[in-house]
Amino acid sequence: MSEFIYLDNAATTPMSALAVAAMNPYLYEEYGNPSSLYSLGQSARRGLDQARNRCARVLGSRPSEIVFTSGGTESDNAATMGVAFAQKKIGMHIVTTAIEHHALLHATKLLELLGYEVTYIKPEANGLISPDSVLSAIREDTVLVSVMLANNEIGTIQPIKKISDVIRQKADELQHSIYFHTDAVQAPGALSINVDDLGVDLMSLSAHKFHGPKGVGLLYIRQGTPFVPTQAGGAQERERRAGTENVAGIVAMSVALEEAEYRRVENSKKCVALRDKLFASLCERIEGVHINGTLEHRLPNNVNISFEGIESEPLLMALDLEGIYASSGSACSAGSLEPSHVLRAMKITDERSRASLRLSLSPNTTEEEIDKVVGVLSDQVKRIRKLM
Ligand code: PLP
Repeated sequence: MSEFIYLDNAATTPMSALAVAAMNPYLYEEYGNPSSLYSLGQSARRGLDQARNRCARVLGSRPSEIVFTSGGTESDNAATMGVAFAQKKIGMHIVTTAIEHHALLHATKLLELLGYEVTYIKPEANGLISPDSVLSAIREDTVLVSVMLANNEIGTIQPIKKISDVIRQKADELQHSIYFHTDAVQAPGALSINVDDLGVDLMSLSAHKFHGPKGVGLLYIRQGTPFVPTQAGGAQERERRAGTENVAGIVAMSVALEEAEYRRVENSKKCVALRDKLFASLCERIEGVHINGTLEHRLPNNVNISFEGIESEPLLMALDLEGIYASSGSACSAGSLEPSHVLRAMKITDERSRASLRLSLSPNTTEEEIDKVVGVLSDQVKRIRKLM
């Protein structure tokens, strides 16, 4: 067993050896600017083109439909604002969900300041968004719908294809296009991210969630989707995202994405077995355990639970002392623990929400580690409950 147990893979992941190896030459000898016309630059350009082709193969898209960005936050911002600005004359209404990542929710808040109207759909109690709720939120002036593929806190997987179908049907009735974006940041390596199977027009990814480097991601934009770039500058990325590309990061991301897809089925099976063992052992060993979100449509690596009467903060500190890294479902802002907006939207009480613990596994997690975590959690929950 390693010195610590890392169960926060939804927050970030270590880089894969293949991704590091692919990145290295672009940090040293291949350091040219891909927009330079001499051979050093053109060599970097070839690396960039190959990376784009690799990503496109995994997404089932055209290489030209991929725009490299600095990560999930930028992709979500660019997708929502890019389409909203481009479609302003058609309509200024956007539909999204109350359980999106803040990268999306804070971008739509900015759009609201600019006069756009946004409908935030509430999930069902199990954390799922029903296609019917999307259908009834669409108005005559709706130009964009954004629903995440998998939730980063509770791991629920949304019925993206069914949602896409109802959007298309409604758009036909209204006789104007409604574009569909998904934040698929948590999906690579666990779910298929084929853009045609999902039926999406835009999709956000972030490399550091699938064993690539931090600070690099991509936005898929289906050909023909109206899009106004929100970053002004040079003509990079076919004038959709200005700024010199992070060539080394992009090359590493493309290799990590290919690897994640190649190992997806095998790794998902491994994670499901470990996740189910963890859920079952925790429920068996500890009283008053609540599982947050459906078990059925859930990422293979996500466990989100609340222990009755226990705040997550002291529990996380106790786990840290034991060398176990996990996170709470709550965002800590300015020293005060705000209950998670996701759990709140599911109508989970603030008390249970403040008690939530997210353990996100990886295919490298071992049974031995799971046993250790169950043992430590059961001791710590008992100890903290006694102190209260
Ligand atoms: N969207 C989701 C669902 C995420 O989980 C995250 C990261 O936590 C992001 C967006 C933001 O991605 P990045 O860290 O690359 O900005």
